[in-house]
Amino acid sequence: MEDVILTNGIVYAETGTIDKGYIIIADGRISDIGEGSPSSKSAGRIIDVQGNVISPGFIDMHTHGIMDVDFMESSYEETEKALYAYARYGVTRVVSTLLSNPISSIVEQGKLIRNVKQKSPIGCLIHGVHVEGPWLAPRCRGGHAAKYLKVPNKEDVESILTQIGDVVKTVTYAPELENALWLTEQLNKMGIIPVFGHTEATYEEAERAIMAGARHVTHMYDTTLGYKENPDEALVMMPGMETAVLYFDQVSIELIGCPVHVPKPFFKFIAKVKPRDKTIIVTDSLVGTGMPDGTILTYKDGRKVYVENGVLRMIDSDPAVHGNLTGSAVTMNVALRRLAEYAELSKPDAIRWGSINPATTLGIQEETGSLKVGKYADVTVMNDNFDIILTLLQGETVFKKDEEDE
Ligand SMILES: [Zn+2]
Ligand SMILES: [Zn+2]
Repeated sequence: MEDVILTNGIVYAETGTIDKGYIIIADGRISDIGEGSPSSKSAGRIIDVQGNVISPGFIDMHTHGIMDVDFMESSYEETEKALYAYARYGVTRVVSTLLSNPISSIVEQGKLIRNVKQKSPIGCLIHGVHVEGPWLAPRCRGGHAAKYLKVPNKEDVESILTQIGDVVKTVTYAPELENALWLTEQLNKMGIIPVFGHTEATYEEAERAIMAGARHVTHMYDTTLGYKENPDEALVMMPGMETAVLYFDQVSIELIGCPVHVPKPFFKFIAKVKPRDKTIIVTDSLVGTGMPDGTILTYKDGRKVYVENGVLRMIDSDPAVHGNLTGSAVTMNVALRRLAEYAELSKPDAIRWGSINPATTLGIQEETGSLKVGKYADVTVMNDNFDIILTLLQGETVFKKDEEDE
């Protein structure tokens, strides 16, 4: 394969920003990064990025789908189509997230996603599967159907671990459920990351699970109840799971890049209180993502929703229900742009939340997540406003703006 040279860009390298620099890609990996112009000895296809930003590709570790595709229901071809749609927004890795469903359906869909990962030309954009539920707290279920929720039992857990344990990378569950500590240990043993979410755990329940290996929180401040009031002492607050996940440095925290799901001050707060490498932005995006405002979608169960400014809202004849929030439709580039604004971060610092930080939590930081010699050339080129111009996945062009949009 011919070398590719991206020149004349602002390079967000792992070691710092290079104001006018280049990167060279050989055999799908970054072979050189430098300031100025590459030496005349370098040969290959030259792409002049015209002063735009050369950034690490984004990693979205919590997304259900995009462009009318839901990973829980998609066919092989639809899943592939979704991966190309992610690349339009600078994404070079996703953890395909499966919503609460019967265990057998989760297993079947996990196998399909593994098949796409192994066989499709764009399959390496999938890092793996995130099983979100069905082991969630009923009161905190959010968009998960109550009828599928259950406590983890041996048969279900074994069914998932033995059949799709290789492709499952993260499991979100509520640590206060019966058998949750046992589940944490089983996941940890398999190298699957135990993740808190949809939970109202006490401090003690959360601490026990963290000691057993839990080390990430799914969409903090959305369906996570942080504190409780002491029933025996007036107006005394009891620490809950929030105190535990903020206290223990090994736990990373993810926020949905959406001010409707996460009120703005939380972005600044998490940026200040968590270690620099434990802060993560995700989209938690659903089927309507990437589609224009006003697009109407019909779910399998007949419910209708519409897209509005990065969220999905209900369509219903009952005015009390019509317009209710049903999920996120934000894209990674927009989520990162908002993060930079809300948390008052520099662009390279904001981008860490969607690149090296999720890579570190997922344990793939030696392969991807930053621009460094030896790593995969998972790269996106964007303008100053986070609009994506070009995306390379392991050195291959998977999105180019000029061809498609101009
Ligand atoms: Zn959720
Ligand atoms: Zn989700």
